[in-house]
Amino acid sequence: KTVTRFAPSPTGHLHIGGARTALFAWLLAKHDGGDFVLRIEDTDRERSKQEYTDAILDSMKWLGMDWNDEPVYQSDRFDLYNGYIDQLLDEGKAYWCDCTPEQVDAMREKAMKEKRKPKYDGSCREKNLGPGENRVVRFKAPLEGRTNFTDMIKGPISVENAEMDDMILRRSDGSPTYNLAVVVDDHTMGVTSVLRGDDHVNNTPRQILLYQALGWDVPKFGHVPMILGPDKKKLSKRHGALSVMEYEKMGYLPEAVVNYLVRLGWSHGDQEIFSREELIELFNTDNLGNSPSVFDTKKLDWVNSEYIKAKAPADLIPGMRTFLPEGVEAEDAYLEKIIPLLQPRSTNYKEMADMCDFFLVDSAALEYDAAAVEKVFKPEAVEILKELTARIEADAEFSHDSLEAVCKGFLEEKELKFKAIGQPVRLALCGRTQSPGGLYDLMLVLGKDETIARMNRAVT
Ligand code: GLU
Repeated sequence: KTVTRFAPSPTGHLHIGGARTALFAWLLAKHDGGDFVLRIEDTDRERSKQEYTDAILDSMKWLGMDWNDEPVYQSDRFDLYNGYIDQLLDEGKAYWCDCTPEQVDAMREKAMKEKRKPKYDGSCREKNLGPGENRVVRFKAPLEGRTNFTDMIKGPISVENAEMDDMILRRSDGSPTYNLAVVVDDHTMGVTSVLRGDDHVNNTPRQILLYQALGWDVPKFGHVPMILGPDKKKLSKRHGALSVMEYEKMGYLPEAVVNYLVRLGWSHGDQEIFSREELIELFNTDNLGNSPSVFDTKKLDWVNSEYIKAKAPADLIPGMRTFLPEGVEAEDAYLEKIIPLLQPRSTNYKEMADMCDFFLVDSAALEYDAAAVEKVFKPEAVEILKELTARIEADAEFSHDSLEAVCKGFLEEKELKFKAIGQPVRLALCGRTQSPGGLYDLMLVLGKDETIARMNRAVT
């Protein structure tokens, strides 16, 4: 059974890049009918914060990535790690080392001068030291041979063992290092496929050596390339938002963010829009690209607007509601009538909420754009509005068809063009000359009483 994992360090919020890596791992598990597990890599006690763990889990939930079992916290597992370090010591596969950081630096410098790969020279290998203050435990890496693996994304990778350091497994303060902890965790959590950022690709051969030393099966590995900003540099704050939560706050739909992020690095022909079910069905690591992707806010906006268009209006109510100004009250039934006017022209929930403010005040409180009033409400226009208001009031049916008939009839009779009523009526109804929806749609959403009230208010 496929088991994949996501292993964030809770030293910040969930970033777009981390979310994408998590999504790939989640999709791989779902596609194979397997499990997706979470591990919180909180061994850095200074920088790790519970509030970040909570925020990461919230962002995962928002994106709809569910996980199996309770998340595992590395900080709870030091005994487990130490048990395996002791085992490696007992088996002669690891050793105590009392070299100072300065000594190790000097070894590295010397190696560099001699044009060798800088590394710890293994001078404590045969010293048979025991535990003691300021001592670390190092792994006795093989000096010959190569370590090979086939990366699910990058293809075959091969590293000369002699190039690899005798890495530290336990620091002098007793804490395990990343490579040791990750191997113990991935093995004990039953992980079969590791998908992670390619900043870890150099760790993988070292981790494979540890799997072998511990006598464990080596999982499959895939290293996902980075996401770059439009300037082709590493994605950072200056390219806009970084955390998933910020996208939530800007009014993006989680499904759209998921769709966009998965497409950023994974493809299925030219298809751009995928339902969650389609993603699960079609996802495979073969179609993960091997070159960095460029984050493109315009494309994300496009994907988001496609999702907004495709949704049933009722399904957009809860999301849009969170962006309505405080104190604004609106019944679901009313919002459900407004939303179809907003859908064709909105990029996100926030825009939707901003665009429909005029619907959500009553006629007495509607504010008129003073410049537009000056320009549009000329005496002739006011006369026209007055007469038209009376005709609409007399229209018992008040439907799209009847309103169209009333207005067209009026224009014909007066030998006027649509222009003569377009702007004045829109301004009367919305307080401004730009708004979503055709005139009749606006009237229908407002209802007859409110339409008449606004038109009357405008001309008095
Ligand atoms: N905690 C590591 C990180 O956030 C991930 C390590 C891994 O996936 O093996 O970069």
